[in-house]
Amino acid sequence: MNKEEIVSKNFIEKIIDTDLEEGKYEKIATRFPPEPNGYLHIGHAKSILLNYGLAKKYNGTFNLRFDDTNPTKEKTEFVESIIADVEWLGAKYDGEVKFASNYFQDMYEAAVLLIKKGKAYVDDLSAEQIREYRGTLTEPGKESPYRSRTIEENLDLFERMKNGEFPDGSKVLRAKIDMASSNINMRDPVIYRVARMTHHNTGDQWCIYPMYDFAHPIEDAIEGITHSICTLEFEDHRPLYDWVVHEVGYEHPPKQIEFAKLYLTNVITGKRYIKRLVDEGIVDGWDDPRLVTIAALRRRGFTPQSIRDFMDLVGVTKSNSSNDYAMLEYCIRNDLKPKAPRVMAVLDPIKLIIDNYPEGEVEYLDALNNMENPELGHHQIAFEKELWIEREDFMEEPPKKYFRLFPGNEVRLMNAYFVKCTGFEKDENGNVTAVHCTYDPETKSGTGFTGRKVKGTIHWVPASHCKKVTVRLYENLVDEEKGVYNDDGSLNLNPNSLTVVDQCYIEPFIEQYHAGDSFQFVRNGYFCIDTKDSTDYDPVFNRIVSLKSSFKLPKK
Ligand code: ATP
Ligand code: MG
Repeated sequence: MNKEEIVSKNFIEKIIDTDLEEGKYEKIATRFPPEPNGYLHIGHAKSILLNYGLAKKYNGTFNLRFDDTNPTKEKTEFVESIIADVEWLGAKYDGEVKFASNYFQDMYEAAVLLIKKGKAYVDDLSAEQIREYRGTLTEPGKESPYRSRTIEENLDLFERMKNGEFPDGSKVLRAKIDMASSNINMRDPVIYRVARMTHHNTGDQWCIYPMYDFAHPIEDAIEGITHSICTLEFEDHRPLYDWVVHEVGYEHPPKQIEFAKLYLTNVITGKRYIKRLVDEGIVDGWDDPRLVTIAALRRRGFTPQSIRDFMDLVGVTKSNSSNDYAMLEYCIRNDLKPKAPRVMAVLDPIKLIIDNYPEGEVEYLDALNNMENPELGHHQIAFEKELWIEREDFMEEPPKKYFRLFPGNEVRLMNAYFVKCTGFEKDENGNVTAVHCTYDPETKSGTGFTGRKVKGTIHWVPASHCKKVTVRLYENLVDEEKGVYNDDGSLNLNPNSLTVVDQCYIEPFIEQYHAGDSFQFVRNGYFCIDTKDSTDYDPVFNRIVSLKSSFKLPKK
C-alpha cells in the first residue's frame, strides 16, 4: 500500500468516491465562494484548502467565485485582498476569477421560468407581514393572499419590478413551495427583492437582487460545480438548494455538502467581530498581527505551509468543536525550524563587562545559522569587552537550580567563552545596572575544550557591534477562561495583547534580510520583520511564536 491509501479518507472524499463510482459526475468541480464584505480569516483558509485540495486530489477543477449578490457591504478593496490571500495560500483557481453578479441575467431568467411553471409569485406583503405569516418551528405558516395570482399577472409584475416601477421593499418574488413545511426555509422563501443599490460590478443596471438561497445554487450549476461544500449552518437550507436546481432544470445538478466550521480557542474569528475591532481602531487594520485574518497571519510571519499543515492536522468533520491555537503554533515552529536563520537578540538588556578582556579589542566568532540545517551556512559575531545579556540571566541571590549568572558562577556565552561572574553594580534604587565577569581564553567554542563543564549557556550581543531594533510581543486578544464578552456584549479584551519592546539589541547580521523574513531569536522565539512598519534601517520584529510548546502531536 502506498502512503496515500493508508491515510483514512474524510467523509467528503467518501461521498465523492461513491459519486464517481456511480458515474454521477465524470470529473469533480469545487469552488470557494466568498462574499467580498471583509478580509478572509483562518476559517476561510480551511474552506479554501479543502475545496482546492479535493479538486487537486481528484484531478478536478477549483473556482474562485465572488458571491457578490448583496451590494450593501461589498467593496473592491475586499475583492483584491481575497484574491491575494487565496493565491498566497497556494490554492490555484482554474481560469478567471468568477463573479456571481455576472450571472444576474441567468438568475432573472431562472426566476421567470419558475413563474411560468407556477412555482413563483409576486407578493405585496410587507417584510414584517411575511415574517408573521411564516409561522414558527411548532406552527405552520399562513399563505399570503397574493399567492394565487395568475402566471400572467406574476410575469407582468416581476418584469415591472425589474424595470423599476415599484419602490424598494414594496414587492418581492417568492418561491411557491409549502407554507406548512416542517422546514421553515421551504415556506415560500423570498427569492428576489427590489432594492436600488449601486453594485461594485454591475453599477445601476439592476434594481432587483436575488436572495442568497436562490442565487447560490444557480451560480454553482452555471459553473458546473459538482460538490458545493459549505458550513453546517446551511444544512437546513439544503432542501431549498435541491429544489432550486431541480425546478430550474439543470441537467447535472450540483450537490451541497456541509462540514463543521473551524474555530480556534482564544481567537476571534467571525468577520463581524473583526470588523468591529478594525472600525473602532482597537487594532491596526485588518492585518494587525493579533488577528487571524489571512493578511494578519501573513504579516505576523505564518507561512502558507504552516497553515496547510494545520488544516491537515485539524481534518474535516461534521461536528462543531474548537481547536487549540497551540496546534497552529506547533505547525509554524515546525515549518520554520529548518528554514529560519538563528540569531542572538537581547530583549531586556543589561550590560555584561568582561574585566580581563582587553579594552578596544574585537575578535570574530563563528555561529551556525541553523542547528538543524547546515545548508544555511554560518555567520560571524563580534566579541568584545562589553556585551548585552538578558536581565533575567543574572540573579544576585539565585534560587536552587538556577544555572545562569550569579556571583561566583560560571556559564558559557553561546558561541564564545566561559565567563565567571565576579560582581555587579546597582543604582540608587537598587536595580542592577551591570554585571562583571572574567573570561577564560581556553574555553573558546569550537576548540574542543573539555577541561570542565558548566550547566548554563546564555546568549549575548556585542555592545558596540549591534543594532537597536523594536520588537513586538503578542498575547491573545481574548481569553476564554476570563470570558470573551462583557455583560454589554462588547469584547472583553486582554490589555496585554501587545507589548512593544523598543530597546532590543540584535546581531547586525540581520541587516542583509528584508521585510517578511523570519528568524529564530535564540531562546526568545521566532520573529518576522514586519512588512508594514519596518524601514531598511529600522526593522520592526513581530514575535510569531515562542519556542516552548504546550502542544504535543497526538500519537496515531
Ligand atoms: P463569517 O462567518 O466569518 O462572517 P462568512 O461565512 O460570512 O464568514 P463568506 O464570505 O460567506 O463568509 O464565506 C465564504 C466561505 O467560507 C463559505 O463557504 C463559508 O462557509 C466558509 N467559511 C466561513 N467561515 C468558516 C469557518 N470558520 N470555517 C470553515 N469555513 C468557513
Ligand atoms: Mg456570509
